[in-house]
Amino acid sequence: MKILHDFSLKKLHTFHFDYKSRFYAEIKNLEDLRKILQFEVKEKIILGNGSNSIFTKDFDGLIIHNKIGEIEIVEEDEDKILLKVGGGVLWEDLITFCVEKKFYGLENLVGIPGSVGAAPIQNIGAYGMEVSETITKVEFIKFDDLTTMTIANSACQFAYRDSIFKHELHNKVCITNVFFLLSKIPNLNLTYGCLQNLVDKNITLPELVSTIKKIRDEKIPNPNVIGNAGSFFKNAIIPKSQTKELLQKFPDLPFWTFDNDYDKISSAWMISTCGLKGFCKYGLKINEKSPLVILNEGCKDGEKLFCFIDEVKRKVFEKMNIVLSVEPNIF
Ligand SMILES: Cc1cc2nc3c(=O)[nH]c(=O)nc-3n(C[C@H](O)[C@H](O)[C@H](O)COP(=O)(O)OP(=O)(O)OC[C@H]3O[C@@H](n4cnc5c(N)ncnc54)[C@H](O)[C@@H]3O)c2cc1C
Repeated sequence: MKILHDFSLKKLHTFHFDYKSRFYAEIKNLEDLRKILQFEVKEKIILGNGSNSIFTKDFDGLIIHNKIGEIEIVEEDEDKILLKVGGGVLWEDLITFCVEKKFYGLENLVGIPGSVGAAPIQNIGAYGMEVSETITKVEFIKFDDLTTMTIANSACQFAYRDSIFKHELHNKVCITNVFFLLSKIPNLNLTYGCLQNLVDKNITLPELVSTIKKIRDEKIPNPNVIGNAGSFFKNAIIPKSQTKELLQKFPDLPFWTFDNDYDKISSAWMISTCGLKGFCKYGLKINEKSPLVILNEGCKDGEKLFCFIDEVKRKVFEKMNIVLSVEPNIF
């Protein structure tokens, strides 16, 4: 394992700002991980595919690029299968493996770029499912004493785009393995709006996966072609009393029940209603087809991203009285 200096981050995050990391190391096994975690430096972070991280300036620390892992079958019976998957495995490779083997449970999450180790961190979700529905436990190594720990799903504090790894364990552990319990029995989730027309069509697992991929490709540009970090803003969670007030002003407001006291409001709809679809400034643009996505069409200055976000947030706040919250990790 080599520790490189002043390493360009341009290709290591999907927003593609060209900043540098003071130190950088790619790790392929646990031994290297334990060694590199002992490297004394001001700050260190684990990076997977960089699709939920944006570097807006040079990083004065160590980036540990996690490439550890493989896909292992731990247990199986006629109906179910338990997989242990390394944190450095690409999410796409796990989906391909599951589709080939006909293991059901992760298919609605096809097309989400990233590594397996990052999936539990923000509890990735799409097309009517969240990854926490299939995770049984998460294994990690702690930065401080290098011990390995495993925590069960119930201790992961999974919530909408959230988990314990964004709070108590934020930047304190490296997720080394994630355990998934999947079904061998066909069991497709077609509850999400645009998938409901597939109910009664006897659709197969590969057909569902290619349908979702097609829908996604039409909405979000490939980040290898136009830099982006997927959804930039989370849907807003607001008290039901505020939903009522908003409905008086905006009768077509799209919202879903979040729990007994709160609703989830479509941030894409809020951004569109504020006239921000296609809004461009500094080489940054709100994607027209999917307004939660900010495209980097040539911006080279991380500071400008903050100005752009502030402008979008301010316009939405002025009209809706809701503060948008940002989804990616900004460094
Ligand atoms: C085009 C596009 C579409 C997207 N669509 C969706 C979507 O539909 N749904 C959704 O939920 N997300 C979506 N995302 C966001 C992103 O793909 C996910 O959050 C993904 O899980 C990020 O994985 P990553 O390996 O790229 O994470 P990174 O960006 O590398 O890391 C994200 C965070 O996790 C930490 N981290 C990474 N790996 C580890 C590890 N092994 N141990 C400890 N900490 C770690 C990093 O330090 C960082 O804080 C999309 C992104 C893009 C670019």
